[in-house]
Amino acid sequence: MKRVVVEKKILERNDESAKKIREILKNKGVFALNFMASPGAGKTTIIEKTIEALKDNYRISYIDGDLDTDRDASRIKKLGIDVVQINTSGACHLDADMVLKALKQVSLDCDILIIENVGNLVCPATFDVGANKNVVILSVPEGDDKVKKYPVMFNVADVVLLNKIDLLKFLDFDVEKVKKELKEINPDADFIEVSAKEGYGLDRWFEYLKNLIANSSLL
Ligand code: MG
Ligand code: ZN
Repeated sequence: MKRVVVEKKILERNDESAKKIREILKNKGVFALNFMASPGAGKTTIIEKTIEALKDNYRISYIDGDLDTDRDASRIKKLGIDVVQINTSGACHLDADMVLKALKQVSLDCDILIIENVGNLVCPATFDVGANKNVVILSVPEGDDKVKKYPVMFNVADVVLLNKIDLLKFLDFDVEKVKKELKEINPDADFIEVSAKEGYGLDRWFEYLKNLIANSSLL
């Protein structure tokens, strides 16, 4: 019982901070995306490709949440955009207070703010970080049973990217099952199949993202 009360307080405080983030971003006309996935699903690679494809037409900033290293942040920094690293010192998710702090450092003279959450399919889902849209990446090697095993994460997804579909020919992975289970858990979530490595489906994702931004009435 006590544990529940504490968690509730933490989440209430988090929601307050997430609200502040939304206000700041709205005033600046910034569209924010929160990327969530397991470690190794391909978040950073998809983010790299997305920035490469969009950076001539949109100003993009990036906040990276990582336990200890700046490996992802240094990859993204090479693309010449503004990068802020949050080291969570062991915490397995970003919370809104961490992002609020990072907003003071990152350039908000941008159109798109990309937030890369800590690699984890569990608690990042319960901490709203004030983004406009949640992008959840599932990759083929993780298995086709993940939607129902991590329902909270797939429930908060606005769009699910199924990555590494170039590996479908080597693995038993039922794409239709994933689509069906996603529909049951979250009928509003969009679903796009991609291979960040081979480029398949990425154009569809870029078009989808451009449409989201155009319809957000922020820019
Ligand atoms: Mg990464
Ligand atoms: Zn966590």
